[in-house]
Amino acid sequence: MQVDYIIVGQGICGSFMSHYLQQHNSKFVVLDEGKTTTSSKVASGVINPITGRRLVRTWMIEEVLPFAVNAYQQLEQQLHCSFISPKNIIDVFTTPQMKLAFDERLPQETDYLSNAIPSQKFENVLHDFFGSGMINNCWLIDINLMLAQQRQHLIQSNNLLTELFDATQLQVSSNAVQYKHITAKKIIFCDGIGSTQNQWFNMLPFVPNKGEALLVQIDQLPRDYMYKCGVTIVPWQNNLFWVGSTYEWKFEDDKPTAQFKEKTIHTLQQILKTPFKVVDHLSAVRPANIERRPFVGLHPIHPSIGILNGMGTKGCSLAPYFASQFVEHLLYNAPINPLVDIKRFEKILSR
Ligand SMILES: Cc1cc2nc3c(=O)[nH]c(=O)nc-3n(C[C@H](O)[C@H](O)[C@H](O)COP(=O)(O)OP(=O)(O)OC[C@H]3O[C@@H](n4cnc5c(N)ncnc54)[C@H](O)[C@@H]3O)c2cc1C
Repeated sequence: MQVDYIIVGQGICGSFMSHYLQQHNSKFVVLDEGKTTTSSKVASGVINPITGRRLVRTWMIEEVLPFAVNAYQQLEQQLHCSFISPKNIIDVFTTPQMKLAFDERLPQETDYLSNAIPSQKFENVLHDFFGSGMINNCWLIDINLMLAQQRQHLIQSNNLLTELFDATQLQVSSNAVQYKHITAKKIIFCDGIGSTQNQWFNMLPFVPNKGEALLVQIDQLPRDYMYKCGVTIVPWQNNLFWVGSTYEWKFEDDKPTAQFKEKTIHTLQQILKTPFKVVDHLSAVRPANIERRPFVGLHPIHPSIGILNGMGTKGCSLAPYFASQFVEHLLYNAPINPLVDIKRFEKILSR
């Protein structure tokens, strides 16, 4: 098989790389092992323009948010299904300090914060001892539906093989790669946490970060909002809610833990006024990194090998934007934002 590009991995990054390559009529094949719990499959799918206790804007949000919304909507049209919806976050303050921080930011951040809370909608279900505020212009993506539909589409167009990529079978030269029976101009790694084990990119400053979530039935909680209330509660498939998450830098494996389940059930008991039922427990490791900036571009020593990775906690908003930028670079030599270009690690990658 002769193609222009081999893409390893079909998470959010590989999905958007394949989407843009297809738009430009490039020849490519995606290799994905078909694992059921990956960072993209466990993610809640939230795009939240406001971040942290200080309620500051997420990095590059003015550019990446409109781009991402448009990209998901375009993909929806192509795949004939619906997986992105506007859904604001009700920020339920769990301490007086949180209310103070919100009230202080409110006059400066009128684009994304407001007091307009439809309290009657959730006051019978959630305690809000210290009040609440609204984070506007948020979006929710049903990532599992998006990934499944894109996979189906790629299989039908003969662009995806369900198999584990084995790096020992890859032969690399400066202008081509050979993988088993596939010859390509370049190979692009979109393999999430897999790149931490990969001989070409394991020197990048990845800091894998584990996250867990419970899938919970909460019958009376309105599904037209997302909630931040000590935990984040997000509408999920099958009338369930996703409740999470943790940000663990130290962990033994990627499996769900009893401690997380116990702690989260305890938190839900404190904040919910109504009964709930835990239906499932998920966990995965995020491909995070020290700088909190993506890894995009071609290897400085091996220009036939590239990477789109390091999305950390923001894959939903960052992946579409930087996949498009990377494809424009591959096809038309357009510039990659120097803040994300892996050229910044040239010294480390040259060792
Ligand atoms: C609990 C949790 C909640 C999150 N919530 C959000 C959120 O609300 N919003 C947000 O923006 N981000 C969120 N994230 C982060 C987001 O999930 C990641 O940034 C994003 O999914 C990373 O996507 P990726 O494509 O780089 O990696 P992955 O999703 O890990 O995809 C990599 C793919 O490559 C495949 N693969 C790897 N190695 C091989 C191999 N050797 N051969 C074949 N296939 C291979 C894997 O099976 C997988 O399909 C969350 C993450 C977690 C864990």
